[in-house]
Amino acid sequence: MASILLIAEQYKGSLRKVTFNGLGFAKQAAEQLGLDLHILIAGSDVGGIADELQGYGAKAIHVADDSDLEIYRTEPYTQVVCKLADEIDAQMITAAATVQGKDLLPRIAGRLGAGMASDIVEMLEDGTFKRPVWAGSVIARVRVETDRKVVSTRGTAFEAPKKGDDTADVNEVDVSLDEADKVRVEDMEETKSERPELTEARVVVSGGRSMKDDKGVKMIEELSDLLGAAMGASRAACDAGLVPNELQVGQTGKVVAPELYFAIGISGAIQHLAGMKGSKVIVAINKDPEAPIFQLADYGLVADMFKVVPEMVEEIKKRKGA
Ligand SMILES: Cc1cc2nc3c(=O)[nH]c(=O)nc-3n(C[C@H](O)[C@H](O)[C@H](O)COP(=O)(O)OP(=O)(O)OC[C@H]3O[C@@H](n4cnc5c(N)ncnc54)[C@H](O)[C@@H]3O)c2cc1C
Repeated sequence: MASILLIAEQYKGSLRKVTFNGLGFAKQAAEQLGLDLHILIAGSDVGGIADELQGYGAKAIHVADDSDLEIYRTEPYTQVVCKLADEIDAQMITAAATVQGKDLLPRIAGRLGAGMASDIVEMLEDGTFKRPVWAGSVIARVRVETDRKVVSTRGTAFEAPKKGDDTADVNEVDVSLDEADKVRVEDMEETKSERPELTEARVVVSGGRSMKDDKGVKMIEELSDLLGAAMGASRAACDAGLVPNELQVGQTGKVVAPELYFAIGISGAIQHLAGMKGSKVIVAINKDPEAPIFQLADYGLVADMFKVVPEMVEEIKKRKGA
């Protein structure tokens, strides 16, 4: 039977949260299109995580475990996915629209001659897809005309499905790469942080250009740490060199949808909203009562952040100490 193939994303043997959101889409698509659901995990020393994907309605979980796949690179991963897609007659290949998914899926689509829908937030009954464009101010409906389709999903748009007690077959994928890889990773320098990863965190505290200098940045960092939150920032804050670019939330940064999002001294430009408007509860602190962020916020505080954030910090410390 024809199938849909979900590419699970893992890092150092831990599944990324978006894999489960992607699974929400893949499961729905499999049911709607009458396809078997297959999942691929690729990496090195990743066999142990197949169990975590049991119970979600997959027919099979394919494990491509090889030292050549330890660090993600486009070409080896493309070869593994395309070979498996042919073997299981995958009519749809899908993954989350993460940095890795955005790199890998277009290459797979090109290799398989398949059309692609990117960053989708919904699949309709007629098989068309909805995707936000122009920083989310317009929702486009796209149709992929090829039989085989490649689809990347916006993680924040799909709920992770509930785990059941069904079991999938676990298959080992024979990783014999038939083309020499033209890219070799010489070295990898990781950013070390005690804080949770921005796209995985339950709470995100973001600061804007208004942080002004190190003192302002430290103030936001302290609040983040007290709340066990990830720290985010507006592009203006990143461009000003206040914080590293990897903290940028928005259209050209990361898309987050935590349970709680603090926008502190952030105006609420549409490009910033594009990256956080899916958050469950949004708290905005801004000294300008007309700031557009207040139109989206669930809770708004018109105040000077340099006054109220230290007060919040003190209050949280007091309550934590109590
Ligand atoms: C193609 C494109 C892509 C973009 N992508 C992104 C993106 O991914 N992410 C993103 O964030 N932006 C993005 N931008 C930029 C975006 O348009 C805004 O310029 C940016 O978000 C503004 O950042 P900001 O709110 O920190 O700064 P500002 O616009 O300068 O706003 C600062 C805010 O802080 C408030 N403030 C100042 N001092 C205080 C204080 N003491 N206490 C409380 N409040 C205070 C002000 O009232 C104001 O509302 C993009 C722009 C373009 C054109």
